[in-house]
Amino acid sequence: MESGGTNWPILIGTIATGLVSAWWVFRDARGRDHNPVIWAVACVFSALTVGILGPLAVVAGYLLLRPRGALLICPHCSKKYIHNLAYCPHCGKPVKKDCLKCHDLMDLDAEVCPHCGMRTSQI
Ligand SMILES: [Zn+2]
Ligand SMILES: [Zn+2]
Repeated sequence: MESGGTNWPILIGTIATGLVSAWWVFRDARGRDHNPVIWAVACVFSALTVGILGPLAVVAGYLLLRPRGALLICPHCSKKYIHNLAYCPHCGKPVKKDCLKCHDLMDLDAEVCPHCGMRTSQI
């Protein structure tokens, strides 16, 4: 007979918080190409060691440290990725192309290089 040493509602709530924050951080970090596995593991691990405040602290830390920038929709798989990536972090397909003149990156459907102004429509 257990004598009430474990508070199941709190334990389950803590693990659920850890898993939900791990899932959210994993998705967001993956789109930003920013160590999704490490952040997700940190959420679950802190829930098991610190308690319910652990994953919340990890999420707060993640929000401070994550790469900032607009999220765009991948034209291949329709998932979100941060604007400065050349390849989609979800499906691995190119979401940018190289300018032939200045070799900077531009949007896949751009007709004019935003860096040097070269037209690409004839390629
Ligand atoms: Zn994609
Ligand atoms: Zn260019």
